[in-house]
Amino acid sequence: NVSLVWFRDDLRVADNPALLAAAADGDVAALYVLDEESAGIRPLGGAAKWWLHHALSDLKLELAQLGIPLLLRRGAGADIVADVATELGAGSLSWNRRYGGPERDVDTAVKEWAGEHEVRAESFHASLLHEPWTVRTGAGNPYQVFTPFWRSLSEQDFRAPLGLPSADHGFRGSLPESESLDAWALLPTKPDWAGGLRETWTATAAAGAEALAEFLEQRVGDYTEARDRPDQPGTSRLSPYLRWGQLSPFQVWAALAERRRDGAAGSAGPAVFASELGWREFCWHQLYHHPDLATVNLRRQFDDFPWRNPELAQTPAGAPGEDSGVEHLRAWQQGRTGIPLVDAGQRELWHTGFMHNRVRMVAASFLIKNLGIDWRVGERWFWDTLVDADAASNPANWQWVAGSGADASPFFRIFNPLTQAKKFDPAGKYVGRWVPELLTPDYLEPVVDLAKSRLDALEGYASIK
Ligand code: FAD
Repeated sequence: NVSLVWFRDDLRVADNPALLAAAADGDVAALYVLDEESAGIRPLGGAAKWWLHHALSDLKLELAQLGIPLLLRRGAGADIVADVATELGAGSLSWNRRYGGPERDVDTAVKEWAGEHEVRAESFHASLLHEPWTVRTGAGNPYQVFTPFWRSLSEQDFRAPLGLPSADHGFRGSLPESESLDAWALLPTKPDWAGGLRETWTATAAAGAEALAEFLEQRVGDYTEARDRPDQPGTSRLSPYLRWGQLSPFQVWAALAERRRDGAAGSAGPAVFASELGWREFCWHQLYHHPDLATVNLRRQFDDFPWRNPELAQTPAGAPGEDSGVEHLRAWQQGRTGIPLVDAGQRELWHTGFMHNRVRMVAASFLIKNLGIDWRVGERWFWDTLVDADAASNPANWQWVAGSGADASPFFRIFNPLTQAKKFDPAGKYVGRWVPELLTPDYLEPVVDLAKSRLDALEGYASIK
């Protein structure tokens, strides 16, 4: 009997229930489909593609040690899985669940196909601590507010991480053809903008496990204060590993629980860190209940907000009209706004595919509330440039900053990026690293007046209240 395991956002061999189930059944082959064709699936951004390339190379090696080949195919997910399962003569199919609307549609189509062809198909719970449909308020609705959501969940126990399958289930038959990873051209060539990503990241599951161990050993105790400081290595930097499933939330949770037991329990750090994992859950639950989270304001009164750039939000290319904000958008993207913390963040993002959370909030707030540009435009930029960009956390956090989302920061609470820099980067270490020309005459004047643009934003908000 041959089992096919379909990898998606779970590029790991440990704590992988779909892989274990396949290995319990007979010979195992693995498949990854680069799906840019199925309706509604959002094509990956540039930084994400870079990460994916390395994560797949790593997965291929890890699977090879178990004797399991990884097949690569490009096309519409449901068709490809059916083709490969047929070519292999697979009797069973397994995968770990996804939570986006279009992705669920694809998975449903595969299940239907399997049912019609007497192939056993089974899906598993692996990428979130809680399945979104299991979490409800007393009244039976999805939670709108984070604190009660997390209060009700964080007290539960989660399953321990699962082990590796044994190496006895390698694949012995003849294999269908696989495409070559290099031919997918996920890495940039001309120009090669990925130098900073290569310097910053090792996109392997082992590197994720090391980052987790190091964070828990050295930094979780100080996390409560240090997490807001972009000038310090205060956070875990696990987000891309979680995004690609090279680490599972169960693995992170179990390691954290162990650390709590043997030491860091005195400080609030572990609990605060755990609640950040809770925000990750909360974002995915929002996406599950609102598949159009990246395009539709959860608070519909924001549909009438007088953005400067309604057309930019509609079409990626943008058809710039008068005062459409295109120049300001470019300045923001390129880190040339004349606001040091925003420019530092945007340059960090461009160079490394990452931006510190505090700076993400400030940079997003500046785009939305000082430049008057629709959050969806910023969301798309982050989608293209972040190595951790995901279909839930990115739009949910943009909606949070915009004030249009669930349990969002109120619109009228507008960050002052200069005050934020003083508070969270007091010696200017972070800004100095990314904007070295800061204290020279070469540094730019601010593209907008902070006080005036703030008042304009409040006026816009008053018009939709
Ligand atoms: P840590 O502080 O060490 O947190 C641990 C983990 O908790 C993170 O790895 C992440 O998985 C999760 N987490 C922490 N904060 C959040 C949050 N606010 N929302 C959801 N999960 C969280 N995070 C993404 O993973 N992908 C995104 O596309 C993304 N886009 C964002 C866009 C904006 C405008 C903002 C303000 C935030 C965004 N975040 C996103 C959330 C957050 O900035 C990152 O998760 C965090 O900076 C990652 O760094 P870390 O791993 O060191 O975090």
